[in-house]
Order: sequence, then C-alpha cells, then structure tokens
Amino acid sequence: MASDCVFCKIVAGDIPSSTVYQDEHVVAFTDLAPKAPTHVLVIPRRHLADIGELAGDREASAAVLAGVAAVVETLGLDSYRTVFNTGAEAGQTVFHVHAHLLAGRTLSWPPG
Ligand code: AMP
Ligand code: ZN
Repeated sequence: MASDCVFCKIVAGDIPSSTVYQDEHVVAFTDLAPKAPTHVLVIPRRHLADIGELAGDREASAAVLAGVAAVVETLGLDSYRTVFNTGAEAGQTVFHVHAHLLAGRTLSWPPG
C-alpha cells in the first residue's frame, strides 16, 4: 500500500466507496464524478502506478480484465468503453492504475 494513495485507501476501507464488485485481486467501485450514467473504476488491490507497472504483474493484469468482465456481467451491460488514462497529459490524476468502465450513453469517437 502507498500511504498517500487514495485508491489504496479505498482498498483498505479507510475511505468509503460504492463497491460494485470485488475479489481477491481487484476492487470495482463507482466513480465519484461520473462521466456517463454508468462509470465504474476497476483497480488491482496491489498498488501499481500505471498500465506499464500493471503489465509486469501478469496475475493482476488478468484480474483487472476479468474484473471488468465481472462488472459487465453484474450490471448486464452490452455496450461499454474501457479507458486507461496513462500520464498527466492523457488525463491520469490518480497514479494507482484503474480501468474506467463507461456505459449508458452514446460515446463519441475519437475521445477528446
Ligand atoms: P484518472 O483521471 O484517469 O486518473 O481517473 C481518476 C478517477 O478517479 C476520476 O474519474 C475521479 O473522479 C475518480 N476518483 C477520485 N477519487 C475518488 C474516490 N474517492 N472515489 C471514487 N472515485 C474517485
Ligand atoms: Zn495505490
């Protein structure tokens, strides 16, 4: 756990979140500032800063994708977008890797 990391605090239960799915490797919870009617974040329990660090942990990598699939199944989604913002210029503000799962409205392409 990184002591100054907001998502590690969510994993630890030190700050509240609205949990959608969890297992031994991942936690999925509703985004505080949703950008779509459904906006869920899927994170590994282990502190990994970004997709590059996540790639070094094959078990966590697979678990994040399986976590996305579990949320999709739980919420009964048939169309959705997943986004990993990586680096400040791409919009990453929390440096504990997370998959954004967005659904419930038409999503334009390319993203801004
Ligand atoms: P990013 O900008 O890609 O790093 O995404 C970080 C996301 O975390 C943003 O969409 C925030 O709204 C969300 N966020 C930050 N703090 C919390 C929190 N305590 N609970 C839920 N979502 C959060
Ligand atoms: Zn963390």
